[in-house]
Amino acid sequence: MSYQPGSQELLDSIGNSAVGVAADARPIAAWAGGREVRAGTGGGGISGSSLVHAARIAEAVCARRDSVVVVPNPRLYVTDAIVLSRFDYGEADRVMTLFTPALGKLKAIAKGVRRPTSRLGGALEPLAELRVALARGRTFDVVTQVEVSQAWLHLRDNLESAATAWYLAELADRSIEERHEAEGIYALLRRSYELLDEGMDSGRVARWYEMHLADELGVRPEVDRCVECDRVLEADEEFRWVPPLGGVLCSRCPGPPAERAGISVAAVKVLKAYQRMDVEALAGLRLPSAVEREVEGAMRDFLHVSLDRDARSLDFLDEVRRTGSRAPEGGPG
Ligand SMILES: [Zn+2]
Repeated sequence: MSYQPGSQELLDSIGNSAVGVAADARPIAAWAGGREVRAGTGGGGISGSSLVHAARIAEAVCARRDSVVVVPNPRLYVTDAIVLSRFDYGEADRVMTLFTPALGKLKAIAKGVRRPTSRLGGALEPLAELRVALARGRTFDVVTQVEVSQAWLHLRDNLESAATAWYLAELADRSIEERHEAEGIYALLRRSYELLDEGMDSGRVARWYEMHLADELGVRPEVDRCVECDRVLEADEEFRWVPPLGGVLCSRCPGPPAERAGISVAAVKVLKAYQRMDVEALAGLRLPSAVEREVEGAMRDFLHVSLDRDARSLDFLDEVRRTGSRAPEGGPG
């Protein structure tokens, strides 16, 4: 609050303690810190305006004393977060890569977390949404408190859905930057974990996530028009899927041979469905498994190009699906 001592506005604001007193040199009375003060002009006395000034300072000090209690520590902040990966550090610490909506990816250290007595240990787990309090640090921010907001326990019941969740986390990790807002991708990952937890087919969740992740990254696959000539594709022609060009290529444009790059009309329709349909409706689609595999391969190729390489956790996911139930322990992280 700022004010100018002696202004008429200020005098008005003081009310009864200075009724009818102008800002000039006539004697006035005012309350300053609960003590009545009288002042006159001349003789070295305090001028009316400076007295009012004193009263206002006293008021301001009192007001400030009331609010001092709640001044926050600017080094501390609280955020929602999903643990994307972590590694052990030193004797008992762990460095976590946290995914947050407002700050994107950030590295944080959980001190002493590997000791059995740690208050943080049990809660700082991947495949859950956490509410984390952090203190800004020089190299890493420091986790000071954590609680689990969403545990998504059913997501872990099934090895394939857990492996899929790791894969989605890795795709997020590769897509976001450190300390850059990423609310759209955060919401996408969060919703995908919810769907896996609710028991939706993990392949459908993964395709839906991949398609919308591409959208968030500004590389939405083209499935309606030829990526070269921009012609609207017709159902009876031969399509090719060419991720480096951004999507579907028509039969008239030059490009890789159909034997290598061909994609069926049915698969293109399903790709369109992943772009346009609600995820709940996608869950209910009946699709031949050959088409699902074709769409899976198409999206993998597309993200491989968009993100510059395959996700490491794909090997883990494939291993899980090959072996059914037995898989390497502890996830790919
Ligand atoms: Zn074309």
